[in-house]
Amino acid sequence: MSTYHPLTIEEAISLARGIPGHFPADAALACEEIGDGNLNLVFHITDQNGGKSLIIKQALPYAKVVGESWPLSLDRARIEREALQLQYRLCPGLAPEVYAYDDRLAITVMEDLSDHTIMRKGLIDGVAYPLFAEHIGEFLARTLFFTSDLAMNPQEKKEQVKKFINPDLCKITEDLIFEDPYKPSANNNYPEYLEDEARSLREDAALHLEVALLREAFLTRAEALLHGDLHTGSIFATPESTKVIDPEFAYYGPMGFDVGAVIANLLLNYASRPGWTKDPAARRETEQRLLSMVSEIWQEFETRFRKLWDEEAKDPMAGSPGYQDVYVAKVLRDTAGFAGCKMIRRIVGLSHVADIDAIEDERLREEAQRKALAIGKHLVKHHRTVTNGEDILRLVKQAA
Ligand code: ADP
Ligand code: MG
Ligand code: MG
Ligand code: MG
Repeated sequence: MSTYHPLTIEEAISLARGIPGHFPADAALACEEIGDGNLNLVFHITDQNGGKSLIIKQALPYAKVVGESWPLSLDRARIEREALQLQYRLCPGLAPEVYAYDDRLAITVMEDLSDHTIMRKGLIDGVAYPLFAEHIGEFLARTLFFTSDLAMNPQEKKEQVKKFINPDLCKITEDLIFEDPYKPSANNNYPEYLEDEARSLREDAALHLEVALLREAFLTRAEALLHGDLHTGSIFATPESTKVIDPEFAYYGPMGFDVGAVIANLLLNYASRPGWTKDPAARRETEQRLLSMVSEIWQEFETRFRKLWDEEAKDPMAGSPGYQDVYVAKVLRDTAGFAGCKMIRRIVGLSHVADIDAIEDERLREEAQRKALAIGKHLVKHHRTVTNGEDILRLVKQAA
């Protein structure tokens, strides 16, 4: 076994060649590094004679953040790999298959999903994903339900929580999502014309209370194994198929954090539409489709989660009258609040989304930024008043 070092292209090829039963002996393997290189290397290895391919993802021991290096534990590769394996076991159609791994090298060898498109790109291009709400509702319901105390023996669940302690990656979320946007910070990143918005985020006491409560939930509430970074850049999609990748932020946290992440990213795309679709009728149609997806995602999640609870719950108190309703209502409030936090940080915080930043026209880009902030702030401030799925859309429409 090798000690840790970033793989060269040649090493990636020879490692791929050694995966039992994957490539034929005479395979002509080619390799390209396709990651963005900030946190991880991603090697795409193909047989030039046609046929098979695979992906090797390797964690780097640091993140490049504002020009500096932020040290990151390599154990996150093990966490990502174990989360992928668990997600594939619970939802085989909705996650890549892991073929092999080497924790010492911090690598995971997995199914190549290059026949899919990163969903953020598809959404920017206006692609419709008619099955997405169903697929992601299924992914969320099954991964969250089966890793929670509702479905697990509490002793085994605690062992599982231990395996997924992920302090370095949680710190990124704690800082970038639940702290920096609300104070002066070198990590913040926004154009000068948004200084009025940034100041209002720093000075809004009512908003700070709600963010503090959501941050507390993120820090303390080990409800289920989360994906932890479920934005549309972590989803490969076609109109027929959905595959969730990149769970390196996985840890035990509040379920609404994952549901909220998906919804936030659809709403960011919603806020960006005037920057992408010129024709007003076509634009309205796309906007309407995105809003419908948001409410469908919650419905699909809730319906499946309740069915799993009715049919598969192991918790001896799960059948207590009213418990399921109270639990689902809590997940919904968290979903609205976390969605809002995630929208805000993508506008003023360190890391942005192409849906908005890649809009060429500066006036349309600014409109999209302000609209996303208005929706995000309104969701955070009113998340505790949300009682049914349609309330999220009501808040979005009030703000937009
Ligand atoms: P990071 O954690 O660095 O963001 P990702 O897992 O999101 O890494 O992968 C980065 C990019 O590498 C993805 O956007 C995608 O283009 C490519 N990639 C990652 N996993 C796969 C895969 N299984 N199949 C095909 N491409 C992949
Ligand atoms: Mg990346
Ligand atoms: Mg990624
Ligand atoms: Mg990642």
